[in-house]
Amino acid sequence: MTSKEITLFRKNLLTWFETHCRQLPWRETEDPYRIWVSEVMLQQTQVKKVQEYYEKFVCRFPDVESLAQAALQDLLKTWEGLGYYARARNLHKAAQVVVEDLAGEIPADYAAFRKLPGVGEYIAAAVQSIAFNQPYAVVDGNVKRVLARVFLINSPINQSASTKLFQQKADLLLDHTTPGIFNQAMMELGATVCRPQAPTCIVCPVNTVCRAFQTVRQEEFPVRQKPKPLPEYDMVAAVIHKGNRVLITQRKLEGLLGGLWEFPGGKIQVKETPEQACVRAIREETNLLVKPVEYLTRVKHAYTHFKIVLDVFHCNYQSGKVALNEAVDYRWITTGQIDQFPFPRSNHKFIPLLTQGKEEINE
Ligand code: SF4
Repeated sequence: MTSKEITLFRKNLLTWFETHCRQLPWRETEDPYRIWVSEVMLQQTQVKKVQEYYEKFVCRFPDVESLAQAALQDLLKTWEGLGYYARARNLHKAAQVVVEDLAGEIPADYAAFRKLPGVGEYIAAAVQSIAFNQPYAVVDGNVKRVLARVFLINSPINQSASTKLFQQKADLLLDHTTPGIFNQAMMELGATVCRPQAPTCIVCPVNTVCRAFQTVRQEEFPVRQKPKPLPEYDMVAAVIHKGNRVLITQRKLEGLLGGLWEFPGGKIQVKETPEQACVRAIREETNLLVKPVEYLTRVKHAYTHFKIVLDVFHCNYQSGKVALNEAVDYRWITTGQIDQFPFPRSNHKFIPLLTQGKEEINE
């Protein structure tokens, strides 16, 4: 692309964004904390979903101090359903570093900000450019798609080896006078015009310099490496009844769904029936002897790297004292108390089936 074309690209994109940017709550603020929260939420999640959570979150934790002081469980409860919970845990840790080591000031410096827990290249570039007008180009999925089409980039969009190339192209286009607005405009163009299917090129502000449009090859880009099929695991979960209480356990704080609560269970092993797996897994994970007495339901759920098919049983407590293996905490609660705890989505798929105040099940 010639320097004249780059100038035209910037001018046309910024002019378009002035009149076409969507009104989003995090665009109404200049507060670096709120911009940071919104970008962390947006990193793996659609705008529509983030809109449901952002206001609730900044209302509950209005500044970096309140977030730093929050109990992790309150934070996870507020984040519940948004997924990728490591984002929330890292944001929490980063807020504590900002308060304890940086006098509550979010660094207006890329390198210093990048050192905070959970702050990768995307978050650092987004927050530094939008909140502090620093010249760092953002590269997310939407931006990659625009770049792949504008420059006819053949490298697969979903391969880490391509990251450097996409970053170079984004750096080349970045407008250094208004980097924050430019970055938002690029993301907006990808989200609303240069969409994955049927991009609306005819109204696109950069179509005069887009190689894909000029050669009618929009549908060929971006190139994608075919993902491997996800492995699928058969699992069981137990709703263990003891009197009018049921047992829930808390996952360890690090790793997948860290810190969330769940109904205990485990994988079904070869040659085991789901009932046998249920008894064995509960013995291994909680040291309790239980008896499956009623099949509740089957739920299916897909995570980023695998899928599960989960058979859920009502079980009666038989004997034993809780001693945890993987989990870090447990509670015997009434079903009416379930909504006080953050649960993963797979559990929310069957929680509505648990009747209010269910007593010990008759065998
Ligand atoms: Fe995307 Fe079409 Fe615009 Fe090119 S002209 S950037 S393919 S919407």
